[in-house]
Amino acid sequence: MGEIIHRTKTRPVKVGNLTIGGADQVIIQSMTTTKTHDVEATVREINRLEEAGCQIVRVACPDERAANAISEIKKRINIPLVVDIHFDYRLALKAIEGGADKIRINPGNIGKRERVEAVVKAAKEKGIPIRIGVNAGSLERNILKKYGYPTADGMVESALHHIKILEDLDFHDIIVSMKASDVNLAIEAYEKAAQAFDYPLHLGITESGTLFAGTVKSAAGLGAILSKGIGNTLRVSLSADPVEEVKVARELLKSFGLIANAATLVSCPTCGRIEIDLIKIANEVEEYLQTIKAPIKVSVLGCAVNGPGEAKEADIGIAGARGEGLLFKKGKTVRKVPEATMVDELKKEIDKMAEEYYKK
Ligand code: SF4
Repeated sequence: MGEIIHRTKTRPVKVGNLTIGGADQVIIQSMTTTKTHDVEATVREINRLEEAGCQIVRVACPDERAANAISEIKKRINIPLVVDIHFDYRLALKAIEGGADKIRINPGNIGKRERVEAVVKAAKEKGIPIRIGVNAGSLERNILKKYGYPTADGMVESALHHIKILEDLDFHDIIVSMKASDVNLAIEAYEKAAQAFDYPLHLGITESGTLFAGTVKSAAGLGAILSKGIGNTLRVSLSADPVEEVKVARELLKSFGLIANAATLVSCPTCGRIEIDLIKIANEVEEYLQTIKAPIKVSVLGCAVNGPGEAKEADIGIAGARGEGLLFKKGKTVRKVPEATMVDELKKEIDKMAEEYYKK
């Protein structure tokens, strides 16, 4: 399949104060792991996610207690809130009334037409979008019968079925996800979806696994999709603290230059020429960069053999030199710093650069 640039050609859909689609930007989402009715714990987790760089957060809404908590959660958080509902239209209505910025529900699963109409009417009145979540693992029975097993075509057919229900009610603020835990299937499904309709796509490789394996799997799948210019928002799903999902998502978007406000770290793999404890330093700097919301490129090299000139694209960096470090900027050595203080010196310089960026 050839190159598809779908990202910028999608319909812009508003979610709270953000817009998904219509631009070359990918918005990071995550989902809470707390019981939604436990407002304290949920708000605490959402705030941690926001701090890590999560831009939109989703909460599960399995019952009335959860739906009743939405308005209180909404009051206490800063980022748009998505409420995930499976079948019960009453929960959807309650969540919308409570101030949800988007709901995730498949209209074909709601049941009677008047129920679908009620949800669509409420969403329209509040100006909030609906995400249709197609999942390879739960395709409609008639589609599975037609294709025999979950296929990309079957998933697109399912998406179009749900889309049509909304379009028939003159509702177009739609976002669609095509999740599968099989990477190849997910890639094909997203490619086909990008050709079939222009609604923004929410990317995800579902049930991708633990922190390590899930990160690799998500990066492989989501990376392939993003590289084709597909995807307007994404969630990395991990069996881990959701803050890790956000960190992985940010790193992934950085690799594709799809994130504006993130600092990146370049570090060497180390070899026998190493002159400083580089792995420790690189980890420390990486941790620090999570808090920097400016596009600064930092480089950390184990030795100066290839010279700071090797890292010319880096705005700033250090290269080890026998218990010392050479601090360099834009490929030019600025000064020598002792190993014991080199990370602190680097942090100070990074802060200065970030300040300048924030002032602009
Ligand atoms: Fe080895 Fe130096 Fe290159 Fe790092 S920068 S890999 S220590 S030669």
